[in-house]
Amino acid sequence: MAVHTGRHFLQIPGPTNVPDRVLRAMDMPTIDHRGPEFTELGFAVMAAMQRVFQTKNPVIIYPSSGTGAWEAAIVNALSPGDKVVMAETGQFATLWRNIALKFKLDVDFIASDWRAGADVAAIAAKLDADKDHRIKAVMIVHNETSTGCVSHPHEVRKALDRIKHPALLMVDTISGLGSLDYRHDAWGVDVSVAGSQKGLMLPPGLGFNAVSDKALAAAKANTSIRSYWDWHEIIAANTSGSWPYTPATNLLYGLKEAVVMMEEEGFANVFARHTRHGEATRAAVRAWGLEVLCKVEADHSGALTAVMLPEGHDADHFRQLVLENFDMSLGTGLAKLKGRIFRIGHLGHFNDLMLMGTLSGVEMGLGLANVPHRQGGVLAAMDVLTGGQAAQSKQKAVA
Ligand SMILES: *Cc1c(COP(=O)(O)O)cnc(C)c1O
Repeated sequence: MAVHTGRHFLQIPGPTNVPDRVLRAMDMPTIDHRGPEFTELGFAVMAAMQRVFQTKNPVIIYPSSGTGAWEAAIVNALSPGDKVVMAETGQFATLWRNIALKFKLDVDFIASDWRAGADVAAIAAKLDADKDHRIKAVMIVHNETSTGCVSHPHEVRKALDRIKHPALLMVDTISGLGSLDYRHDAWGVDVSVAGSQKGLMLPPGLGFNAVSDKALAAAKANTSIRSYWDWHEIIAANTSGSWPYTPATNLLYGLKEAVVMMEEEGFANVFARHTRHGEATRAAVRAWGLEVLCKVEADHSGALTAVMLPEGHDADHFRQLVLENFDMSLGTGLAKLKGRIFRIGHLGHFNDLMLMGTLSGVEMGLGLANVPHRQGGVLAAMDVLTGGQAAQSKQKAVA
C-alpha cells in the first residue's frame, strides 16, 4: 500500500465521515449505565432522536447495526404468516425482504429495474385489490443506498388513507435520516428504521425504531417470540432513563453531540445542503457524459449519486485506481450492479470543498482508468454551487 498524506476521503454512502466534535464527545470514560449521570444522557438522546425523527412517540435505540433495527421492526410488528407488500428498489430492499422471508412473512415483492423509487401506483393497486385486508404492512426503503433513488413515504400514506387500508407503513430510512427531510408523525409512518453511520455522522453501532401508537398496539397484541428487540421492554426501562441491557454508552455521547451539530445548522439547512450537493454532483456526471443510475427526476437522492460506467469498463477497477492514487473510497456496485456502477456518497459531515475534492478525484480517476468521458464535470459542479459564477468568469477569461 502506498503511503498517503493528508486526510483520507471516505466518500462511500455510509459509514460516513465522523466529525472531530463527535469523536471528541465519545472520548469519555465509560460510566455506570445504571447511575444518575447516565440517566441524564439517556433522556437527552431519547428526546434528541424524537426531534430528528419528528415524532412525539418513543424512539427505541438499540446497540446494533441497521440490520438489527430491520429485524426489530419485523419481530415486533409482524408475525409469521403475515402478508406484506415490499417494493424492490435495490439491494437494501432485497436484503430487508430476505429477513422478512426468514421470519416466514408472506412477501409480495414488487419488482423493479433498480432505477427508480417505490412505485406508489403499484402499491396502491395491491392494497385496492386486498378487500379483506390480508396485507398487514407496506414496507419501503426511503433512500435506497444501492441506487441513489428515493421513495416517497407520504405518497404511500396517502394511498393507504385513500383506500382506507389498515396496513402498517414501515420505512427503512437508515441512510435517509439526518440527510433528507423525514417526518415520522406528519407522514403517518408506523415504524421507521434507522442507523447511526449514515446521515447521523456517527460510527456504526446504533439502530433505531421510531414507532406510532398503532405499531405499539400491534406489537402488544403480537404473541410471536422476541426478546432482545422487544419494544415494550425497552420503552419500560427507558421511562427511568435506562435500558434492559447495557447500551452503547460512548456512541450515545456521540449521538448527543451529532444532534447538537445538526440543530446548530438547522434541519432545513441540513436537508437543503444535501439537495444542493446532489444537484452539483449530477451536473458533474452529465458534463462527463456519463449516466446517473436513477432515471426519475423526482427520485434523485441528495445523499448519494450512483454513476454508470460505459459498457466494457469495470467500475471496481476505476474505484481501485481512485483509492490507490488519491486515497479516496467510493462506493461499490452492489449485487447485480457490481462492476457496472460506482457510488459517490455526499451525505453527513460534508461541505462544498469536500464535494469539489471528491469530484476532482473522480474526474482524474476517469482519466487514469481510460473511461471515455468529457472533462469539465468539476467546473459544472462549481457552477451549481456558485450559481453560475464559474462559467461566467471562464467566459470573461476567454473574451
Ligand atoms: C446501510 C443500510 C442498511 C444496513 O445497515 P447496516 O448497519 O449495514 O446493517 C440498510 N438499509 C439501508 C437503506 C442502508 O443504507
